[in-house]
Amino acid sequence: QKVNIGAFLTKRASLSPNKEGLVLGDVRLTWDALNKRSNQLAAAMAGLGVGAGDRVALLALNEVEFFDMYFGLGKTGAVLVPINHRLAGPEIEYIVDDCQAKVLVFGAEFAPVIDSIRERISCAHIVALSDDAPAYAQSYKALTAGASDAEPEINAGGDDTLTILYTSGTTGRPKGAELTHDGYFGTSVTLRATFGDIGQVLLMPLPLFHIGGLAPVPMCVHFGMKMVIQRAFDPKNFLELMGREKVTWFGSVPQILMFLRQVPDFEKYGWDTVKMALVYAAPVPVPLIKEYAAAGIEVRQLYGMTECTGPATVIDSENAIEKAGSCGLPFFHNQIRVVDMDGHDVGADELGEVLIGGTNLMKGYWNKPEASAETIKDGWLYSGDMAKMDKDGFLYIMDRKKDMIISGGENIYPAEIEDLLMGHPKIADVGVIGSPDEKWGESIKAIVVARQGESIDEAEVIQWCQGRIAKFKIPKKVVITEEIPRTPTGKILKRVLRDQFNAA
Ligand code: ATP
Ligand code: MG
Repeated sequence: QKVNIGAFLTKRASLSPNKEGLVLGDVRLTWDALNKRSNQLAAAMAGLGVGAGDRVALLALNEVEFFDMYFGLGKTGAVLVPINHRLAGPEIEYIVDDCQAKVLVFGAEFAPVIDSIRERISCAHIVALSDDAPAYAQSYKALTAGASDAEPEINAGGDDTLTILYTSGTTGRPKGAELTHDGYFGTSVTLRATFGDIGQVLLMPLPLFHIGGLAPVPMCVHFGMKMVIQRAFDPKNFLELMGREKVTWFGSVPQILMFLRQVPDFEKYGWDTVKMALVYAAPVPVPLIKEYAAAGIEVRQLYGMTECTGPATVIDSENAIEKAGSCGLPFFHNQIRVVDMDGHDVGADELGEVLIGGTNLMKGYWNKPEASAETIKDGWLYSGDMAKMDKDGFLYIMDRKKDMIISGGENIYPAEIEDLLMGHPKIADVGVIGSPDEKWGESIKAIVVARQGESIDEAEVIQWCQGRIAKFKIPKKVVITEEIPRTPTGKILKRVLRDQFNAA
């Protein structure tokens, strides 16, 4: 029998039917209730003609229905395509068409955007989660309420695609990574084997359409951990949930840690039950990790990407502070190499591209055979990230290959300069880009946001750099602005930043 992630939920429900599996807003569901909902969704979708391999797109905040669909579609061999709801109409339209979704399900908040694109997309069915579905949509509740909650027959799994997860689109147009049942199983096991005992309660503030939010979900079902999910991140609510639900571990991104520390007395909330706090998805400023450490909170950095169904490396507890800045060692079932332009492994502390191996690699990019062949070669995933590995094997991500600045023949990684500037007491946020320069090829430009109630100027920023980094890495120009454009997981949208601040 092939591994089927939907069948994990059936198993969990039979082992611990009355145990709470999901807490989301006011809704609390047992594993049995969750499982029955997923069966009803499976039956409802079959009723709409959705079969194995068909794509069903979802545009919503983190809702209970996400779980129905992830597990329910998984049981039937259909494919869930969760879409980033922060995208604009035409971008959403692109994804719905690119994956040729048969059904599009949307949350109440997104009725206006669906209205604006519905005549151009070619889905057979549009389904609304809200109670008052517009005339062109069917009601999710009506479809599932009368459907049978009996277990569907399971024929799919293994190497079959379970989700198409579009990458964040940080460096270009999002690409649809085909993530399989086996891949999610691989992630579940590699996470568990590495983390060991992290208690029974996960708190997840990240969107489930992003792998950073979704990757722990099958693991929680696999190992019977309760999932406490935020519909959308809210710092105060996050801290309150920690205490109320006796959270034992959570995932986050640097932006979330920045928001949490702004809540008065943030360190006094229910941190005592937390065994593991993870941060990932974007370069993690070392001052941020140190600031948490000073408040008695250990934050562990993880590195991963959509294309490996989430995890690749993580720092262990012992080294989390001592080697702050490192994203650690490969997960139990992952391997890491750092290679030069010719694909040869580089030596310790030398810079190269990160390759990822493991049992959780994607099948490929949906509908993009060339990009797939360039990304996975000989079983290694070419990450596009530049990094160094120290002599003990600890990985230090420098930045993306594509964001490297070449100035006067020197390769410069913006993340290093951003990290340094984040340590300035008056700076709240910063993005560094290269701008075209006749003499140097490119010159370094820092876009800076001052902390609330502070002001800062170019001279202060440059002065902060002097003596702290090599001269050629010091920004030539500093622009003060109000906000740095970011993705929902807090990645700086460098292409937007360049468009905005490099215009003539
Ligand atoms: P796209 O591929 O569409 O440009 P993306 O790469 O941002 O978007 P994701 O798969 O969400 O899409 O993100 C993976 C990337 O996030 C990694 O390749 C890496 O650049 C970055 N990342 C993840 N974890 C870390 C980390 N701990 N430190 C630095 N960067 C990280
Ligand atoms: Mg990427």
